Amino acid sequence: MYAGIVGDAMGVPVEFAQRDSYYIDSMIDSGTWEQPKGSWSDDTSFTLPLMENLTDNGDYDQLMQKFENYMFHNEYTPDNLAFGIGNTCAKAVRNWSVNRYPALECGDMSVYANGNGALMRLAPLAIHLVNEPDIEKRLQLEHDYTCLTHRHPRAIVASYIYLEILHELLNGQSLRTVLRNLPERLTDALKDRPEELAELPQYAAMFKSDFSSTLRRNIKSTGYVVDTLLACTWCVLGTTSIDNAIILAVNLGSDTDTVASIVATMASCECLSEQVNDKWKNQLRNQELLKSIIEPFANKEAQHKALLTL
Ligand SMILES: [Mg+2]
Repeated sequence: MYAGIVGDAMGVPVEFAQRDSYYIDSMIDSGTWEQPKGSWSDDTSFTLPLMENLTDNGDYDQLMQKFENYMFHNEYTPDNLAFGIGNTCAKAVRNWSVNRYPALECGDMSVYANGNGALMRLAPLAIHLVNEPDIEKRLQLEHDYTCLTHRHPRAIVASYIYLEILHELLNGQSLRTVLRNLPERLTDALKDRPEELAELPQYAAMFKSDFSSTLRRNIKSTGYVVDTLLACTWCVLGTTSIDNAIILAVNLGSDTDTVASIVATMASCECLSEQVNDKWKNQLRNQELLKSIIEPFANKEAQHKALLTL
């Protein structure tokens, strides 16, 4: 979880910047949002409520309330300031708090609402589901948690791919092996969900055996969920450490914070014995808040795992 937050904070100062108009390999201040060094953004501020909600066994309404507390009351932020919230996420939170939609109907179903705003917050769910052997059960939860903000089948399928990758990595598979096997497993699991199955080809490139040798100029790092997932997978395939994966990601330009955050998370699950750079981690702002949410979540999930292995 900390690696993902480091990726977010490293990417914040250069979010939306053009590729190769800068080079960074450390935590810097100012930039796009004019924030101090170590400021993390909406990616983390939507992830923290999910962790807290999973720790407390909260339901979807309680999670939407936490999202509202972030967006309208600046909770879950480094310094009482919510910044960088994407349109689709903002609309979903308004649907819940102002328009009083049911939680699972807050997400936008439009094909134009296929940003990476659900993907960026869902890693805790992979940890929660690491010992769940039934893919149907995992997909249903991955579906529902995505629908809180994004309901187009393309965004939902992105969550399936990302969280199933994390699931397999956390269970000791290598990323290359996962990418080789996942299309067939998903095709089978989605046979009764034709609208979702029809979106799988959107992601075909990342499952090709030579995807890692795609030229950098052909990798797009925008906030479009397909671009994001491909860019993230490409970064992790192209590096052998968490820190180098983050540096590769933040220098792609465009949606740097989300791409670097997801890359850091994926790389951490691929290199399970490794930790993200300590110096960067110590530079993160509002450490007390991060610790107060991550520690109970980690303890609860660890206990849960221990019970399951008894
Ligand atoms: Mg952000």
